[in-house]
Amino acid sequence: MSISLTEILEHISRVHLAQLPTPVQELKRLSVDLAGPRILIKRDDQTGLAFGGNKTRKLEFLIADALACGADTVITAGASQSNHCRQTAAAAAHVGLRCILVLGGIEPQAQTGNLLLDNLLGAEIHWTGRERRGERMEEIAEASRRKGHNPYIIPYGGSNAKGAIGYVVAMIEFLEQVSREGRAVDSIVFASSSGGTQAGLVVGAKLGGYEGKIIGVSVDKGERGDLPYELELAKLGTEVAHEIGTSMDLTEADFTVDFRYLGGGYGVVGALERKAIRLLATTEGILLDPVYTARAFGGMIDMIKKGVFEPDETVLFWHTGGAPALFGYAREL
Ligand SMILES: *Cc1c(COP(=O)(O)O)cnc(C)c1O
Repeated sequence: MSISLTEILEHISRVHLAQLPTPVQELKRLSVDLAGPRILIKRDDQTGLAFGGNKTRKLEFLIADALACGADTVITAGASQSNHCRQTAAAAAHVGLRCILVLGGIEPQAQTGNLLLDNLLGAEIHWTGRERRGERMEEIAEASRRKGHNPYIIPYGGSNAKGAIGYVVAMIEFLEQVSREGRAVDSIVFASSSGGTQAGLVVGAKLGGYEGKIIGVSVDKGERGDLPYELELAKLGTEVAHEIGTSMDLTEADFTVDFRYLGGGYGVVGALERKAIRLLATTEGILLDPVYTARAFGGMIDMIKKGVFEPDETVLFWHTGGAPALFGYAREL
């Protein structure tokens, strides 16, 4: 590709929300402990906005679009311990927009973890009960318009063509870091759910010439839409590529997703997650979250133990954040 990221970004509005670049670190003690490949970690848990996480990168583009549309309110949806909702509430507060969150289920008794933070950040919270979150967002937007507001809907996980630009940029940032430090990375492993992270990373890899593996560990069966997850990712990836002005088309062959670590399903903490959290915490002093990164990290450890990576290879775990949810899941850890 002959188009540079600087050229691309000149034409796309962005608000500054994240502390970038996030560090790349080596997990030396863990590599020794597992007698495995060299392991690096990209600290997107340190993006800095109200405890950080991957959604902050997407929100730089989504919030800019909301402001460009003249919105005074953002509406988004997620689970009761959603990291995306917490970061959206923080981003909205930062630029002076109202924030309405549509959270799944019924209001729990304990206001803890991300839910506590949503409240502190001033978000207005609606509970869906048994209804589908997406449908409620439209309804709430309509009610908000009738009251004279101009709401902007951010999709689940911030994963549309605008939001995923954040991860195109992240991949380029990462490739600059590793090339400066002379580190070649053979595989990147991370938690994949609504797809914006994976779609953006893959487009960024094509733009930046990364030829290693990009392995999304699915945390929720990949129910992004009606199609198989890889096809949904190809659709989203193509949309992102076109959004930034390239003519790239992606196919399902561009996406590697591992569905073997779903355990009891989305948000159900099992032995895999519990062990992964304690292992990284006790060997490196780094905290994973119970829903996304613990599952992906646990999957990566399993792959290392099964010899999926050669001892002379370098594997990078892309930490996508979420540690505030540890408090929401305290009793299950
Ligand atoms: C949302 C989220 C993910 C998944 O990212 P997607 O872009 O939705 O696939 C991974 N990890 C954490 C901590 C998240 O909050």
